[in-house]
Amino acid sequence: MVATVIDGKAFAAKVRGQVAEHVARLKDDHGITPGLAVVLVGEDPASQVYVRNKGKQTVEVGMNSIEHKLDASTSQEELLALIAQLNADPSVHGILCQLPVPDHIDGDTIINAIDPAKDVDGFHISNVGLLGTGQDAMVPCTPLGCLMMLRDHHGSLSGMNAVVIGRSNIVGKPMANLLLGDSCTVTIAHSRTADLPAVVRGADIVVAAVGRPQMVPGDWIKPGATVIDVGINRIEKPDGGTRLVGDVDYDSCAAVAGAITPVPGGVGPMTIACLLANTVTACCRANGLDTPKGLTA
Ligand code: NAP
Repeated sequence: MVATVIDGKAFAAKVRGQVAEHVARLKDDHGITPGLAVVLVGEDPASQVYVRNKGKQTVEVGMNSIEHKLDASTSQEELLALIAQLNADPSVHGILCQLPVPDHIDGDTIINAIDPAKDVDGFHISNVGLLGTGQDAMVPCTPLGCLMMLRDHHGSLSGMNAVVIGRSNIVGKPMANLLLGDSCTVTIAHSRTADLPAVVRGADIVVAAVGRPQMVPGDWIKPGATVIDVGINRIEKPDGGTRLVGDVDYDSCAAVAGAITPVPGGVGPMTIACLLANTVTACCRANGLDTPKGLTA
């Protein structure tokens, strides 16, 4: 079997198009422009790239982008004061504090200071609780993107066996909750899982969020299963350069799977698209309007 390639780049472009249409309607019908505030503390190069991309795509879909770039020496109190100011600002519908924050700041304290209704990363404990209890939440962007691609490919996920490899708060756990919400039978595997290959072989859906390059080989995959590769790992090439690979061994998995996301061009592009979708959702909820169909869990 040769797997269908799930094109995350194209899917993300479609999601951004839907977001842009909704933003245009919000402006035309209600005079509202959704606003996303991104806060970056320090000069981490990878974070700077993410923040730049987020700001660019926010503007491209017609929303207001508000960027706060703070010095690495910013105190926790100063950062909390900025979050309070953004919480109180009615033109700001989404707030994201780029992680990681410098060591002298407690990331959890910052995340939990964000108004849960504006928490477009979906990391606030209230949103974690809402998602865990099957209520309307702001859903973390990367797992939301994975869910959208799975729904698009399969239609209903009901009754499917899903294995999520990884139990992080930002990917593995929310992914498992989303799959459970769509009536999959869900197993969460991690570094202490006994006989991981056997666990994975039982899965109709495998979501790999491990952070280990090409860890999952094709002979762990049930023929015809769908493989969603969240991993982003940079490895050295024989010629001395580097390239990005996922957490699954693409070639051997693609030879067995029914469908697979590539790296790059799979889950990665969906993450910012879902951040934009979450900002529109937050804006609609803040204004008592219907949330856009297909852009939420
Ligand atoms: P993380 O916080 O480091 O969590 C990794 C998880 O993998 C942990 O639960 C760990 O288990 C588990 N694990 C580690 N080694 C394992 C092994 N040998 N067998 C089974 N499980 C193992 O990572 P994360 O933040 O969830 O990110 C995971 C990957 O996704 C990374 O490559 C990251 O770069 C990527 N990512 C991509 C996006 C995107 O936009 N596409 C977004 C976020 C993350 P324990 O809990 O037992 O230690």
